[in-house]
Amino acid sequence: MSKPQTSVVILGGGPGGYEAALVAAQLGARVTVVDSDGLGGACVLTDCVPSKTLIATSETMVQLRGSDSLGIEIPGASGAGNGDPGSSGRGGAGTRQAAPGERDWINAPRLYGRVKALAQAQSADVGARLAAEGVEVVVGRGRLTRLTRPARLAGVHAVVVGDREIVADVVLIATGGLPRVLPTARPDGKRILTWRHLYDLDELPAELVVVGSGVTGAEFASAYQALGSQVTLISSRERVLPQEDADAAVVVEEVFKRRGMTVLSRSRAAAVHREGGGVLVTLTDGRAVRGTHCLMTVGVVPAIGGIGLARAGVAVNDRGFIDVDRVSRTSAPGVYAAGDCTGVQMLASVAAMQGRIAMWHALGEAVQPLRLDHVAATIFTEPEIATVGVAETMIESGQVKAEVIMLPLVTNPRAKMQGFRDGFVKLFASPRSGRILGGVVVAPRASELILAVSIAVEQLLTVDQLAHTFSVYPSLSGSLTEAARRLMMPARPRAPFGEPAQ
Ligand SMILES: Cc1cc2nc3c(=O)[nH]c(=O)nc-3n(C[C@H](O)[C@H](O)[C@H](O)COP(=O)(O)OP(=O)(O)OC[C@H]3O[C@@H](n4cnc5c(N)ncnc54)[C@H](O)[C@@H]3O)c2cc1C
Repeated sequence: MSKPQTSVVILGGGPGGYEAALVAAQLGARVTVVDSDGLGGACVLTDCVPSKTLIATSETMVQLRGSDSLGIEIPGASGAGNGDPGSSGRGGAGTRQAAPGERDWINAPRLYGRVKALAQAQSADVGARLAAEGVEVVVGRGRLTRLTRPARLAGVHAVVVGDREIVADVVLIATGGLPRVLPTARPDGKRILTWRHLYDLDELPAELVVVGSGVTGAEFASAYQALGSQVTLISSRERVLPQEDADAAVVVEEVFKRRGMTVLSRSRAAAVHREGGGVLVTLTDGRAVRGTHCLMTVGVVPAIGGIGLARAGVAVNDRGFIDVDRVSRTSAPGVYAAGDCTGVQMLASVAAMQGRIAMWHALGEAVQPLRLDHVAATIFTEPEIATVGVAETMIESGQVKAEVIMLPLVTNPRAKMQGFRDGFVKLFASPRSGRILGGVVVAPRASELILAVSIAVEQLLTVDQLAHTFSVYPSLSGSLTEAARRLMMPARPRAPFGEPAQ
């Protein structure tokens, strides 16, 4: 008798859910994805894809603004040859402040229309891919429930969507997250905003107050400053991006300020109200900040309300996220969870990997538990910050023993040709084996450059091996091989080329 087909039901069609569905279908399961707001999830429709599409336009503005220093004169462009840092070469291309009127270069409805169209197209691609793999998609809000029919079976679950009950051997919860809302700063979608409201505006904010200087706040502050908005960034900590590499955060904050952004550090927003045609942000120390719009970026909470977790025996941790182990199991047998609802690391790539791992585990495949120390991540400010592997704070605290090299890009020939100077590459390597343990790249397109370090970390490569790898001349990646060369220690016995490092 052939083995009965395993039934998998996935709540949520974001990267945590749809990537899991593809794996489960590939392994022969009968797969149903229940999704309420559109395939691709918040990742594709409101968060990651739209923000990076907006940033594509803001990057072009940075290049246009710096074009005068590269010998291009755009008729009517007010910044050309005006002796600002960009044209003097001190700051590099695109580092000057936005001139009055440059905001008018942006056709906001067309920009936001492009953002939304691209997100919808990406969502449709996800739908087509799931359909091609035979995955059933049910539109609606699902919740876990007690199995009513047939008679309750051990290890079998049920998910209810509307009046339909779907029986499942395995359930994956991948319901994502929601913007955290402060009771004293309730978004109205018009002037007081979360990032999910931005693309419904019909204008670019003239004066944008961004509350929160974590990754999301920094990315939008950078993008809108480049698009021509006057940005005030309110940061409760000493510096922006407090969780990130300190040297990288310093570079980005300097660029922000040089471009005319007001950064209020050690400042906490107490309340945000509408005032006249704009907003009034009151800080806890009594100061007031005014703007035309306020963007709240104060975190993400798990979207797990009303989905029957307690009834199914799924525990949440003290942060309020679904508790999972490194193969995505929850406390309830047969129920897995992936992505932002677990709060493990709020990245699309991590959500997708958690979802795949869940399915490999549930469907009996060999599986490697999730390894967060190998996750590559980028903050899409301008310049970008990309990181992988250990963080320097782990080295400073003695948790990890590593040598550190940091090479500023100011001497990199390609960087000079392209007219920028803000950024660096940094490598961390084991002093004993020379193994590359991690790195940081701050540069335009650092998100692409980090792959070399990622491969080195994943494949346990040594600085010698990276140093002996050809890079193109001239290139920014040349700074990575140069950094590796500077970390080479002649005294250490080196593995013959091509052999695995010790
Ligand atoms: C502004 C911003 C920019 C970002 N940029 C990046 C980036 O550049 N790179 C990166 O890696 N990450 C980025 N992220 C993070 C990334 O978007 C998330 O980590 C990712 O979306 C998590 O995927 P997920 O599958 O857990 O959830 P989601 O993408 O949120 O998908 C969850 C889906 O489940 C649906 N759902 C919820 N409840 C139910 C229910 N009861 N029944 C049915 N369906 C339900 C939701 O409607 C949604 O469609 C960004 C986040 C933000 C806020």
